[in-house]
Amino acid sequence: STVPVNVTVTGAAGQIGYALLFRIASGQMLGPDVRVRLKMLEIPQGVKAAEGTAMELEDCAFPLLAGIDIYDDATQAFDGVNVGLLVGARPRGAGMERGDLLAANGGIFGPQGEAINAGAADDVRILVVGNPANTNALIASAHAPDVPADRFNAMMRLDHNRALAQLALRTGAPVSEISRVTIWGNHSAKQHPDITHALVGGRPAAEVVGDDAWVKGEFVPTVAKRGAAIIDARGASSAASAANAAISHVHDWVLGTPKDDWTSVAMPSDGSYDVPEGLVSSFPASSEGGRWEIVQGLELDDYTRAGIDASVAELVEERDAVKELGLL
Ligand code: NDP
Repeated sequence: STVPVNVTVTGAAGQIGYALLFRIASGQMLGPDVRVRLKMLEIPQGVKAAEGTAMELEDCAFPLLAGIDIYDDATQAFDGVNVGLLVGARPRGAGMERGDLLAANGGIFGPQGEAINAGAADDVRILVVGNPANTNALIASAHAPDVPADRFNAMMRLDHNRALAQLALRTGAPVSEISRVTIWGNHSAKQHPDITHALVGGRPAAEVVGDDAWVKGEFVPTVAKRGAAIIDARGASSAASAANAAISHVHDWVLGTPKDDWTSVAMPSDGSYDVPEGLVSSFPASSEGGRWEIVQGLELDDYTRAGIDASVAELVEERDAVKELGLL
């Protein structure tokens, strides 16, 4: 196409931003024939570092990169946005209460929602990466009443990919032969990774694994606590894998998921699987024609039902807390 797609990235000077921008500009997110214009948003202290990243982007001479702009103002950064990656967030500081964290992020994602409402293109798609991602997406969406709520997603794809990887390691099958894994609920340690409908080489994953104790005692906690394990090993939180997941999420949203497979997407619930309507919760989802559809009709065993309920209860708590703070 000749008209460049406007891609806004917040927190552009952060470590996820650094792993993300080059892949967007090289065409890995939207395809090898789609030009992109990067709109980088940072807080004022981050602008200089963002300028340095922009210099490196120029030095890559990417044929698809139509332009780069850097902003410290959300209204300008989201003007004309087609795809928004909301990465910048207030990190959990030592001794910070959960309420403080939610309030600090409300101060970021509320105004960004308003800026999206004011200036976004009709086809806008927003992926929230910055934590607490599900509730930040809810806040942004609540401040963008003219944008359909289903254009706001929160990222579960890294959890999804971690589940694929753990299942591949356990079974010896390549990830390309594993399908229909699901992460349910919140992007937190209370997420519910689920292989009850997964296939490995066309066979039920549970049968290939053949050890329910491994699923409940190893697989689920390993996937759910992987973020902490990375911080422990690397001395910094995961960045390249988070950026990779964001690229894959948007790629599949726009260009579709493979037939006979699905991925995991946090989006406003329509009441499916008894998740309260409006909560930004993760579901199995496939994409066609640029829209996610929640995979319907999956049977949930008691363990899965309980896992979803526990994760959704956490989302309800977060929603009630931000409502009380006046952020919705
Ligand atoms: P990162 O780039 O490492 O992380 C950014 C956000 O992504 C954090 O909220 C982090 O959550 C979240 N995240 C989600 N999934 C993952 C994952 N799997 N692994 C790691 N992080 C994940 O943070 P940096 O501190 O390097 O950079 C943040 C940048 O954002 C800074 O440059 C800052 O100036 C900027 N910023 C910009 C804002 C804006 O544009 N308005 C507002 C606030 C900050 P968690 O904290 O839980 O790890």
